[in-house]
Amino acid sequence: MPLLADVAVPVPLSQAFTYEVPAALAGEVRPGARVLCEFHRRKLLGVVLAVSERSAAIDPSKIKPLAALVDARPALPAELLAFLQELAAYYFAPIGEVLRLALPAIEREQVRALKAQGELDGVLDLGRAKQVGGRKVAYASATDVVEEPGTLRGQAAAVLALLRANGEQPVARIEERFGNARSALKKLAERNLVALDEREPPRDPFFRRAEERDVPPELNAAQAEAAARIDAALAALAPSGGGEHPAIAQQEPRPAGQEPRPSAFLLFGVTGSGKTEVYLRAIKSCLDRGRGALVMVPEIALTPQLVARFRARFGDELAVLHSGLSDADRHAMWASLHGGKVRVAIGARSALFAPVPDLGLILVDEEHDGSFKQEEGVRYHARDMALLRAHRAGAVCVLGSATPSIESVALVRRGKLAELRLPDRAHREASLPEVSLVDLRRFRAGPSGDPLISLPLHRALEKTLAAKEQAILFLNRRGFAPSVVCGSCGTLTTCDACSVALTYHRGRRRDARPPSPGGAPAPAAPLDERPEGGRLRCHYCDYAGPLPDRCGACGARNLLLEGLGTERLEATIAGSFPEARVARLDRDVAGKDRSQAILAKMREGKIDILVGTQMVTKGHDLPNVTLVGVVNADAALGLPDFRAAERGFQLLVQVAGRAGRRDRPGRVLIQTRNPEHPAIAFAAAHDVPGFLEREIRDREEVGYPPATRLALLRIDAVDESVGRGAAAKLAAHARTCPEGASRRVEVLGPSAAPIARLRGRYRFRVLLRARDRGPLRGALAALAGLIRDGLDRNARVIIDVDPVAML
Ligand code: ADP
Ligand code: ZN
Repeated sequence: MPLLADVAVPVPLSQAFTYEVPAALAGEVRPGARVLCEFHRRKLLGVVLAVSERSAAIDPSKIKPLAALVDARPALPAELLAFLQELAAYYFAPIGEVLRLALPAIEREQVRALKAQGELDGVLDLGRAKQVGGRKVAYASATDVVEEPGTLRGQAAAVLALLRANGEQPVARIEERFGNARSALKKLAERNLVALDEREPPRDPFFRRAEERDVPPELNAAQAEAAARIDAALAALAPSGGGEHPAIAQQEPRPAGQEPRPSAFLLFGVTGSGKTEVYLRAIKSCLDRGRGALVMVPEIALTPQLVARFRARFGDELAVLHSGLSDADRHAMWASLHGGKVRVAIGARSALFAPVPDLGLILVDEEHDGSFKQEEGVRYHARDMALLRAHRAGAVCVLGSATPSIESVALVRRGKLAELRLPDRAHREASLPEVSLVDLRRFRAGPSGDPLISLPLHRALEKTLAAKEQAILFLNRRGFAPSVVCGSCGTLTTCDACSVALTYHRGRRRDARPPSPGGAPAPAAPLDERPEGGRLRCHYCDYAGPLPDRCGACGARNLLLEGLGTERLEATIAGSFPEARVARLDRDVAGKDRSQAILAKMREGKIDILVGTQMVTKGHDLPNVTLVGVVNADAALGLPDFRAAERGFQLLVQVAGRAGRRDRPGRVLIQTRNPEHPAIAFAAAHDVPGFLEREIRDREEVGYPPATRLALLRIDAVDESVGRGAAAKLAAHARTCPEGASRRVEVLGPSAAPIARLRGRYRFRVLLRARDRGPLRGALAALAGLIRDGLDRNARVIIDVDPVAML
């Protein structure tokens, strides 16, 4: 019987393809390895899923041999490969595209080897695969050898002193300081005082500064209890595949009849309760047991502080994965994990696919955060998949949050997650801030004149400034004015390509507030309503254009800028508080380094009032912030999405959690026209369990997750009738397939999406809802078949399992 390999190729098809393993490669081709194979007369890079000796299910003469092996050591370890296949099946996603999420770049050496075999002639797709490697950087470090006193002079002595004081350095950096660094290093190396070696170093911004090691604080009782329970779960793990660490061999078998220990947890701790310290202890006990750990955070560019704390505890034995990495750095991180040199990885959503060796622990920080859901390509949810990967790998999983997602709370209730609680702030003097509601229907505008800066908010800002403390103002709208309306006919200016209002952005204007020499307060800039040079932008597509001078509908020269965005808020606040240093943090000002710089300035006390969007709500630990103002709490609550209340509540609690994190008490003002809304009332009372309780009951009543399971079919097309037709066909098919006909799956729609047009495409949807996952999967399988071969080619259909974005 021939030796056959199932190979996944990067095409949008769900199945794998069969190839013959040539005799020369038998024993070398293993699952998880990349291979070159012929596919429709092209040579493609594929991944071996399985190898077995068997008779082919198809005509043997049609089976081609594999062309070449790319990875001598499989790029995807068995654990990761199995997980990826399961992920692909769960989301009805093409296996080739799923594998691509986890595959590293190709090393130049691999390319060279293939070229030498003549295998790369005529290969199309390898050219597009990223290539890395071949670039090495020289490092110098001081050895333990001690020189004869008085034998070193000049730069040699100085270089050695530098290396001893600051630790190893890239040679290039030493050369920047010492003109004769090369010859000095050569001399030092000859005397064994300095060791030189070549590496591919991470040159990532997170590693630019050396981080001083910290001293772990003593845990409080709640932290100690949480850490102990996670530790017990880690102790109970079965030895991993490669687990040769002695700690694993000493495990006691579980006494018969005892409950299996929980291995997945929800760490529910109020903001500032010290969850991070529990994570650090959990990682330590995981590493002590010889296993690797994976930490997932929502947006790593916003959490340099968190990374710094990890580095302070674990040094540089940490792979930090984020979107700002160069290909070479990303690959260096990947290779150090894959090779087992580094055992801890930290990163955003995509870190889910890191090849952490002997995975023993996955931590998901701020597990409620929406950014864990990938909204394009393979639409996976990294939190759900973290639970799956940990479970399959025999690892412990810890989800942490101050505002747990309704889904995770439901898992606690069903006994799938064990709950760990941190009820108090960790700093002895810190307490949760006092929250007051400002009913915007009753309070009028303060001195600034803007109705959204009420008198109580104005007064609170004054008090904060007088006390030399800091304030955060949260507003969920970017830009200057969220809408442009005709004052004559009332027409709203919308995007040509999308059915949404355009936002007016004034942009950075250097003349707005001239820098004042000598620190004297700058004069307040006049707030002109119709400034020159601003742009209208669509927040959904890339459109940006000038502000027209007349209404597109009636022609009147009477366009008005309506509403308040962060840009305008910043300008208004700066105008009303001329002595304050005001800054803004949102996607418009914050490139990757900018947001870190703004947060650093905030921490150093160089900003008095920080204005911003969600970006200010993330887990920053800013000790001197004593006032948080939520400018308009209602903005997020009215969206046509069953999670609107949950999301609004989370935002409010998280942003409130930025206040009063140390000894000075914090204050939160929430401005709303809707103070009785449960999301606002429960947030004001710091009553997270109360909100969760009520929200779970509401979802049960209206039949939304977690009471049910959803899958959303997203249909779009340039031509409205094509999209509508495809949606109708899908809905009809869903209703007649066995699961639909028996009503085990309820079919809602077809209907136009809440945002009916986006980037020039008309959008429709069909929502499938079921009590159980089985029937839902059955219906989706039936629809996947129809999508593959029976629909209008001009309609695009996406299956979104467990959808998050409902717009
Ligand atoms: P969370 O992640 O729950 O919001 P953090 O981990 O940021 O909270 O902790 C809040 C603050 O409390 C941090 O400054 C942290 O250093 C401090 N902290 C945490 N645990 C302890 C402890 N056991 N003793 C003293 N301070 C602690
Ligand atoms: Zn648009």
